[in-house]
Amino acid sequence: MTLSARYDQLAGLAAGVDVLVIGGGITGAGVALDAATRGYRVGLVEQADFAGGTSSRSTKLVHGGLRYLARAELGLVAEALRERGRLLHLAPHLVQPQPFLLPLYNGMARPLGLRLPPPLRGWTSPAVGLVLWGYDRLARADGLRHRRLTAAEAAAMVPALRTEGLRAAFLLYDAATDDVRLTHTVLATARRFGAVTVNYARVASLLHEQGRVAGAVVEDRLTGSSVVVRARHLVNATGVWAEEVAAMDGPPSFRLRPSKGVHLVLRREVLGTQVAVILPETEDGRIAFVVPWAERALLGTTDDPYTGPLEAPATSRQEAAYLLRHARRYLRRVEGADVVGACAGLRPLVEAGGGRVADLSREHAVVESPRGLVSVIGGKLTTYRQMAEDAVDLLARRDGGGRPCRTATLPLAGTEELDTARRALARSGLAPEQQRHLLRSYGGASLEILALGGADPVLLHPLVDGLPVVGGEVVYACREEQAVSLADVMFLRTRLSLLAEDAGEGAVERVSALMAAELGWSADERSRQRRRWEAAVERDRGALAGLA
Ligand code: FAD
Repeated sequence: MTLSARYDQLAGLAAGVDVLVIGGGITGAGVALDAATRGYRVGLVEQADFAGGTSSRSTKLVHGGLRYLARAELGLVAEALRERGRLLHLAPHLVQPQPFLLPLYNGMARPLGLRLPPPLRGWTSPAVGLVLWGYDRLARADGLRHRRLTAAEAAAMVPALRTEGLRAAFLLYDAATDDVRLTHTVLATARRFGAVTVNYARVASLLHEQGRVAGAVVEDRLTGSSVVVRARHLVNATGVWAEEVAAMDGPPSFRLRPSKGVHLVLRREVLGTQVAVILPETEDGRIAFVVPWAERALLGTTDDPYTGPLEAPATSRQEAAYLLRHARRYLRRVEGADVVGACAGLRPLVEAGGGRVADLSREHAVVESPRGLVSVIGGKLTTYRQMAEDAVDLLARRDGGGRPCRTATLPLAGTEELDTARRALARSGLAPEQQRHLLRSYGGASLEILALGGADPVLLHPLVDGLPVVGGEVVYACREEQAVSLADVMFLRTRLSLLAEDAGEGAVERVSALMAAELGWSADERSRQRRRWEAAVERDRGALAGLA
């Protein structure tokens, strides 16, 4: 989309909508889709780039959460596993089964966070087996069943695994996705049903009429101008910002306790396989993961209370050291030099009494203020669809009912023409990992990227050696998905600044040139964009220099 088309969309919102969704992470995207498919006229505004908040900083798992099952949060796990099953069908290119190895070692005190009393420590393996049996049962019929492995089988499956003291292991399945692509895919699906979605558009204040919330003043952060958007319903889907937005309406009736989670991006060689590894026990009684992702391995995460600024939390050296220390307990060879990137995110957890943030539930809540603002808070990437359904059910009830939810069986954008795209990619001469990357990221829409390459073959060349991302994706992001900032394209749309060993330094000028051609940037604008990108690299990588 051109910049002027974006401005037109924002100006168009001034005509009013039925539902104004505030926040363009996965939750807001889900609400926009759900409401649009029920026939509402929907506008969604996002203050920065889509998925730029927590929804780009997850472990990228679509999962029930073994840890929550070990804590007997049966309802949460069952709901998340049901959503996992749905997403595997509704976006099969983007949400795919992921095998995990769960190794068990002698002397473990709290595998999976289970608190086994000392006399039962000899029963660790059956106890974990019971949890996994329960997980499979709750997941019902999606065919993903765990099995027990001997230590030798586990070592053969993940040669990088430490085998000293290894007693047994389990192979189990969950699902993995790309959180940013999932958010864009849900937004694209919502647009097909008429939703208007605008990024860099911030709700600065709310309007009230006759004691009810009736709209919002939306500031266009690219121009500084504002529009008033009237809406019959307003949904606050702003993650860790939800309390701040709710306060525009009156004293919020809920409290959030943001929890910070850090990931390190490692060279894939530390894992050396497509099987993810569960680090079964951390010092603070949790679990962590090493998951194959985008030709790299994602190591995470931490879970600590956070009170700093909500925009762009940074990884500290201490957090990076914590993660490396735990990875080394279970994997043979993990050096500081294997770290190519880092990112920190904030979980929007809902306050429920005292206690550690790591122990707070990941359940979601839909809260209606006395003046009618609907806030959808908490939750997980995995449960975004259910969160959206619950929020829009409330709007439908206000309107007298009769607008049933359609998203439980609605395939997401990109599922059409999947086979055609697969065949076209196979004929394209692209390397297998590029074909996989494009199909998984865009599904049927990878045909559009291939078409860009048909007109200009350079657009199908990798931007960084060893990574599958191509220039055509940058053009596609500008034309179809409202990319407007170099830093966003480097960090969110292509992830090059997370995945490339040089943070994308070698590719940034090419990306900037492609964006300049699409968006009409002047030389000054290109320099300004570059400075913003450099500042973001410094923030995200500052703690990584010289890590041991
Ligand atoms: P966000 O993605 O933060 O979106 C909220 C948006 O609102 C932001 O983009 C923000 O810019 C915008 N906004 C704020 N104020 C305004 C305003 N005034 N006007 C307009 N826009 C505004 N879940 C899983 O299911 N699987 C996992 O593997 C997983 N791993 C995780 C790992 C970590 C480290 C963390 C932190 C979370 C993880 N989660 C996981 C949880 C999951 O990522 C979050 O629950 C989810 O992404 C939250 O999405 P959201 O849309 O509610 O919030």
